Amino acid sequence: MRPLLEVTELKKHYPIFRGVWKRKVAVTRAVDDVSFQIAPGQTLGLVGESGCGKTTVARTVVRLLQPTAGQIFFEGSNINTFKKKGLRRFRTLVQMISQDPYSSLNPLMKVGASIVEPLAENTKTNRKQKKELSQDIMRKVGLNPLHIERLPHEFSGGQRQRIGIGRAISLKPKLIVCDEPLSALDLSIQAQIVNLLREIQEQLKLSYLFISHDLAMVRHSCDSVAVMYLGKIVEMATTVQLFSAPQHPYTQALLAATPKINTKKSGKYQYRGLSGEIPSSSQTPSGCTFHPRCPYAETRCKNESPKLVSISKNRKVACHLV
Ligand code: SF4
Repeated sequence: MRPLLEVTELKKHYPIFRGVWKRKVAVTRAVDDVSFQIAPGQTLGLVGESGCGKTTVARTVVRLLQPTAGQIFFEGSNINTFKKKGLRRFRTLVQMISQDPYSSLNPLMKVGASIVEPLAENTKTNRKQKKELSQDIMRKVGLNPLHIERLPHEFSGGQRQRIGIGRAISLKPKLIVCDEPLSALDLSIQAQIVNLLREIQEQLKLSYLFISHDLAMVRHSCDSVAVMYLGKIVEMATTVQLFSAPQHPYTQALLAATPKINTKKSGKYQYRGLSGEIPSSSQTPSGCTFHPRCPYAETRCKNESPKLVSISKNRKVACHLV
């Protein structure tokens, strides 16, 4: 099956200039050689510590940022070649849900109007159609359709995230990039939003790129997972494979640091926690960028960067020891 989204060797670097003459002194490698695919109707989770480049990937995929190198294909077409008409279509088919739903809503616009705003900009709809559609979407996302006349501040955080989801699905997209959609919500509300996203996925046959640092939610909601460290993917596998037998030392450490996951069930894998700080992406360590924190690092790890290689079906790992 042709992937809906295919990202190949994506890089996003930011030069750092200093001094009176603005000389380039370093480069921040926010995303460095990232490749992945998302099939129609599937969810790929992208996990890693803050600052590992997840959000930069998300913003590049929706074309809010231009990549330094690499290509992004949506339905087989390179998104960076889209001109006006192609870009307009792309913007309807790919939507984004942000971490803070309040910042993505106009505080002075009634939520009904906010929900259908993207639709009104892209299609001709009259007032009655807009009202019916906004009420229909309110129902779909579990809100009272009579509340379309209310302003965003009259809703709770979880309800505002539902409104954000409603706004994202109003154009019937094929892919939604969810950038930490749960991090501002209480635990019980997080579970409700994850369930809502799954229901909507089944109804609309959507694909998600689900970015989160909450491994428990990723385990619950994703078909496959890619683990990022300092701008690179270090492990990629199906959710079952990754959580039952993590291969990369960084993945093992992330799982060890997640209190909600019962690591005892994982049998032969003995997890060791992370030590030290995550290095700056403008001063990445030589060789394997994880070597200063890796409990298994060898001399080779300091000099040679491991490639992300396939070790079994649906599974890739970047580590010399795997
Ligand atoms: Fe650790 Fe070496 Fe593997 Fe990097 S390549 S994760 S330093 S063992």
